[in-house]
Amino acid sequence: MARIVMKFGGTSVANLERIHNVARHVKREVEAGHEVAVVVSAMSGKTNELVSWVQDTPKANGANSPFYDAREYDTVVASGEQVTSGLVAIALQSMGINARSWQGWQIPIRTDNSHGAARIMEIDGTEIIKRMGEGQVAVIAGFQGIGPDNRIATLGRGGSDTSAVAIAASVKADRCDIYTDVDGVYTTDPRIVPQARRMKKVSFEEMLEMASLGSKVLQVRSVELAMVFKVRTFVRSSFEDPDAPGMGDLLNPPGTLICDEEEIVEQEVVTGIAFAKDEAQISLRRLSDRPGVSAAIFGPLAEAHINVDMIVQNISEDGSKTDMTFTVPYGDVQKAIKVLEDNKEKIGFDVVQSESGLAKVSVIGIGMRSHAGVAALAFKALAEKSINIKAITTSEIKISILIDGAYSELAVRTLHSAYGLDKS
Ligand code: ASP
Ligand code: MG
Repeated sequence: MARIVMKFGGTSVANLERIHNVARHVKREVEAGHEVAVVVSAMSGKTNELVSWVQDTPKANGANSPFYDAREYDTVVASGEQVTSGLVAIALQSMGINARSWQGWQIPIRTDNSHGAARIMEIDGTEIIKRMGEGQVAVIAGFQGIGPDNRIATLGRGGSDTSAVAIAASVKADRCDIYTDVDGVYTTDPRIVPQARRMKKVSFEEMLEMASLGSKVLQVRSVELAMVFKVRTFVRSSFEDPDAPGMGDLLNPPGTLICDEEEIVEQEVVTGIAFAKDEAQISLRRLSDRPGVSAAIFGPLAEAHINVDMIVQNISEDGSKTDMTFTVPYGDVQKAIKVLEDNKEKIGFDVVQSESGLAKVSVIGIGMRSHAGVAALAFKALAEKSINIKAITTSEIKISILIDGAYSELAVRTLHSAYGLDKS
């Protein structure tokens, strides 16, 4: 017997037929004798609709400010998950399974006070563990908890992944299964590289890099939590027949296991190629090279909530002036330039230049730590396709390369095959 948390995303609960299918997946695990807790998202599209209602209400009242209270935003948008938790409980009950829905506040899932993007602080798993022990399935509304102000709080878009991992940690589950509309995590986006392979296993660290680089399978925060609490997390499809052979396999269900690197025996040097389009580059020319200059640049950008990514500073030629280049999402360029111009005196630079329409392609793999020549292979492969490199940054397990956006797909395909990731 094992204890399993099963999370179903929006497309998996998109209509009543799919909810019935979800219930069949749950039934399979219950009948195998496992203790089960279920975490659900809102039906796909529902959260977007609720968000738009919140945004449109002040306008409909003739207000010229789009202001709305974040606590009331949470009250509205959390309702999508309330609906699916009840429906899944009803579907299970109608199949003869003992099930009960739970809202975040009922457990309780305690969060901080950042309404709209709250963080989970604490989950009391006692009652859920007790009920599971009595054979009851807890169907928990994802995405929501209760803040210190005693009001409903939501965890940010995609937050029900984080709910599921946090609940798995708090009830000490053996597994957290994330059921979604894809059957696992791929070596790169299969829509761009049809030869992409589904990975059997990927380490938390690698997945974190892939998730933050735009492989949108899981909310980044959920991977961080899984890594901290070592929650073995499977990404798998809810669209497969719940009773197909192997679906109930305890140790190796079909899908991708995200786990501790120690569990990965055959480690490849490179496990995947991630990419992010719509990047822009900003360069500060003839910047004074003195202590505090980076703080003077990135402090105000952070205060303006501009997410800065690749940062490259040149070694100064004469010890007095240098150049600094960094990337921001395309949509933030104008805002970033304004912040820099506003602080020009304080920072001390000559001109600010920018370029949009760029893409960042990243090669990821924990095997890089112990292998030489990994970066050189990427540069050679891109050179052979005449793709120009604008900036490079590296970490222990990642090489990120900034290129012209027009070449992003070619670059991804080239690197995918250069590192031997294409399926044969
Ligand atoms: N329903 C929420 C959203 O669409 C949370 C989630 O599905 O993870 O962002
Ligand atoms: Mg999601």
